[in-house]
Amino acid sequence: MRHFQTAAVAIAMLAAAGLTAQTGHFHPKGKPPSEHTIQVLENARAALPFADERDLEEQKRGFLAAPASKKIMAEDGHAAWDLERFGFLLDGAEFDSVHPSLVRQSRLNMNYGLYEVIPGIYQVRGFDLSNISFVRGKTGWIVFDPLVAAETARAAKALVDDHLGKLPVVAVIYSHSHADHWGGVRGIVDEADVRAGKVQIIAPRDFMEHAVAENIYAGNAMNRRMFYQYGVLLPASPYGYVGQGLGQGTASGNVGLIAPTRIVEDDIEEISVDGVRMVFQNTPNTEAPSEMNTWLPEQKALWMAENVTGVFHNIYTLRGAPVRDALAWSKYINQALYLYGRQAEVMFASHHWPRWGSERIQQVLRGQRDLYANLNNQVLHLANQGVTINEIHNVYRTPTSIAKQWYNRGYHGSPEHNSRAVINRYLGYWDDNPASLIPLSPAESAPLYVEMMGGAEKIMAKGRELYEQGEYLLAQEILNKLVYAEPKNQAAKDLLADVFEQIGYQQENPGLRNSFLAGAYELRSGIPEGATPKTAGPDMVRAMTTEMFLDFLGIRMDSRKAEGMAFTINLVTPDNGERFLIGLSNATLTNIEGFQAEDADLTLTIDRADLEDVMTGAKTLAAQIEDGTAKAEGDLGVLKQLASAMVTFELGFEIMPGTAAPAGEGRGNPFQAGRAGLKGE
Ligand SMILES: [Zn+2]
Repeated sequence: MRHFQTAAVAIAMLAAAGLTAQTGHFHPKGKPPSEHTIQVLENARAALPFADERDLEEQKRGFLAAPASKKIMAEDGHAAWDLERFGFLLDGAEFDSVHPSLVRQSRLNMNYGLYEVIPGIYQVRGFDLSNISFVRGKTGWIVFDPLVAAETARAAKALVDDHLGKLPVVAVIYSHSHADHWGGVRGIVDEADVRAGKVQIIAPRDFMEHAVAENIYAGNAMNRRMFYQYGVLLPASPYGYVGQGLGQGTASGNVGLIAPTRIVEDDIEEISVDGVRMVFQNTPNTEAPSEMNTWLPEQKALWMAENVTGVFHNIYTLRGAPVRDALAWSKYINQALYLYGRQAEVMFASHHWPRWGSERIQQVLRGQRDLYANLNNQVLHLANQGVTINEIHNVYRTPTSIAKQWYNRGYHGSPEHNSRAVINRYLGYWDDNPASLIPLSPAESAPLYVEMMGGAEKIMAKGRELYEQGEYLLAQEILNKLVYAEPKNQAAKDLLADVFEQIGYQQENPGLRNSFLAGAYELRSGIPEGATPKTAGPDMVRAMTTEMFLDFLGIRMDSRKAEGMAFTINLVTPDNGERFLIGLSNATLTNIEGFQAEDADLTLTIDRADLEDVMTGAKTLAAQIEDGTAKAEGDLGVLKQLASAMVTFELGFEIMPGTAAPAGEGRGNPFQAGRAGLKGE
């Protein structure tokens, strides 16, 4: 995963809201689990393979040391990382408001400190969402995946220094493009040493493009959706946030990126890194669009990046992302198995704990290979017989022999949302029923439903009855309609919240749990004010291509405000030799690299390095022109026109009806043009 920005925002907001773990429910309207929910969780407990305790042994094995504190402070004084808030998980209690499988996974993720994988290979675990791994080279450390934030990576290196002796980092390997695998690089490496050739940075094919691309175009929507998948507003509590499956959370600190000095271009490529033989296996379009495994033949150690960890991973990320390719993923695991896995004596990865011994390694590789292949093949098998995207999650079941392995459990992906993803990938969102081809928006259809059902009182009475019977999925059907029809009906929102809460408690998958509990939270309390996205750091902006920036301007422009505008702009960035032709026509902003208009309305000349100040919002283009940093020839009026159509996206847009603060400054309605909230600049 790589959704660092919002997680950072998340934790800051949580602190700002003054929410902390408490003994009781954190919300005054919160409910304990019902007898029905308790029964569902008891049934789940009885069906789970608790006798298999290999994970518990593997997670502890090789433990060397842990720091005294479970907190890592950021430079500005806030806690960049805090495991203390999960203390309730470790007091031995069983919880009837958390799925027993998720409790188990969260407890495993609470182990933290320095571990020996094998002599010469070490991991610091539990310092962030991901692991940081240290391989001893001839002259220093080769680091795999330096965590999310500089603060946590630095703390991990300090722990290594204290217990294994102080050695320099001589190489860093980014296993893939998600930010929890590179964001902390500045905590362990000085960029000057990279420039001087003292530190090598190795990454898979197409790394830089994907490191930033996935987060830009739909970034604000993804950040908002993180409030659901990652439960940003939920306190750590048996009634709220209990972990993220991959790890206990994401550090909120300084995210940076130093560009790789060596890209692994070939499918399989061997490089000697500080005297250590490493065979890199590119695995594009698996867990990430750019990713690679690494085989260390001398150590017989297999690094599986994030392709094989201790979870059924996401084929579809609830936060929002292009759907992944389960079949390609399975095939690359199989390739790793046959090329290296049969000789490997240890397998380690960027999340969770290593596996030792050929039998265990092969079991996990085969199990994960079959998990993704079965999902892909069986879902398409059913789709080819007419099961649709709206039914598949109720039809597809992971085979028992796969599902009874802990490492295949849905702690990040789930069979429910991953099965829908496979259909989405191959067939798209439409179920082929004409009634769902051009449906009314929910708010448009809901009033008719409410009217035909006999009004709010009848729906509330039936909703309560279904709630009492534990028929939560049926209750949500009718209450959701009522909430859409009557967004101000707080009693309806509260009852729907109660329903969501019970469904949330019943989920094994933390993304599903958090989403239901977040929906309940917002229905009860509304969206908190002051939610603002953290702006991308300077490293991220530098990594963004000029084309991406211009494309994103096209997204930020409200087409409805640009009716009738027409102009062309030549953009020249002399320091990197780029030229763009930007056009506004038909209320649409386009750009093409390498071309210039002969009769452009405006020609802008600005170094790319200075344009970056505009991209971060540190300085406006107008100010750049005024002080001579940028040169403008032609009609400056077109810039004013363009600015007048621009919108700054806000993080706090409404998801559940009637949960936004009362309309006012900065709070608008994106469904209509020109309303407050869609502020031009
Ligand atoms: Zn990750």
